[in-house]
Amino acid sequence: MKFSEIYSSSGSPVISFEVFPPKTSRGMDSLRDVLARLVALEPRFMTVTYGAMGTTRSRTVEIASMIHNDLGIECACHLTCVGAPRDQIDGQLEHIHRQGIENIVALRGDPPRGQDSFQAVKGGFSWANELVEHIRSKGLFDIAVGGYPEKHVEAPDLDTDLDNLARKVKSGADVVITQLFYDNEPFFRFREEAWKRGVACPVVPGLLPIHSLAQVEKLASLCGAAIPAELQDRLVAAGDDPEAAAEVGAAWCIEQCAGLLAAGVPGIHYYVLNKAPVMERVIAGLRQRELLI
Ligand code: FAD
Repeated sequence: MKFSEIYSSSGSPVISFEVFPPKTSRGMDSLRDVLARLVALEPRFMTVTYGAMGTTRSRTVEIASMIHNDLGIECACHLTCVGAPRDQIDGQLEHIHRQGIENIVALRGDPPRGQDSFQAVKGGFSWANELVEHIRSKGLFDIAVGGYPEKHVEAPDLDTDLDNLARKVKSGADVVITQLFYDNEPFFRFREEAWKRGVACPVVPGLLPIHSLAQVEKLASLCGAAIPAELQDRLVAAGDDPEAAAEVGAAWCIEQCAGLLAAGVPGIHYYVLNKAPVMERVIAGLRQRELLI
């Protein structure tokens, strides 16, 4: 089922999970266990990243196929423009299509290590909107693109970034999934501004339930997400106790979800980081409060 159908046919918020391909076979074994636990939480779809933050690309399609064909959960493959001329991208799209997968999360990708700025390869794409247009022209997939409530790190300002987002959607995207954030207000402003620019497709918040203060500081600095002082204080109070930090992370995430669902978001996409326990806590908490069925 394609993204557009998933979001239009659902009477309740669409819950989706993102996982990344592990580098080792041991990591794969552990991912299989994690996937079984995630499937039990009944997401509407999952996505598998492609070389994000230095992780591998080689198993993206294999894992997505396992989720789609063996576990029976709709799945999308992420795809980037990094180091890929057009014919390589076409080869990857054909490979994905052969697995029966109907959705792509289309991204430009980050500059590879050692490069200050993104450089398109000869015959490749410079921006995600070009990749979106290319995938759309094939007519085989629905497409999600990334959105940045606190602006993309390279963008000079939020207005410019929103104009670029609008162009990307106009090129053929069916859904916007946002970068992680810990304060809902920037997301609401971003959504409002996207609407003003004619973005009519679902704008879905992406959330990363926190496991530790160190983790959130590292990720937030990489992607430019602000950490509210209150959240920081609670994590500092949790100290080195991983269980206490996970409890703080889950509670914060549940509050964020409650605010987003009350504001009518079409769904929530969770950056699971291949760990099930915090996700189980969050979904259980939302069901207990009857925010999810
Ligand atoms: P773009 O939309 O191309 O934007 C990049 C920058 O260029 C922005 O500053 C934008 O304002 C500007 N811009 C856009 N279009 C134009 C234009 N036509 N002319 C001039 N300027 C322009 N990375 C991975 O490597 N693998 C993954 O699997 C992955 N998954 C992700 C999933 C989600 C939901 C999100 C939000 C991000 C993901 N990323 C992933 C990270 C992403 O690749 C980076 O954030 C990357 O730096 C930008 O990708 P983009 O598709 O948003 O790029």
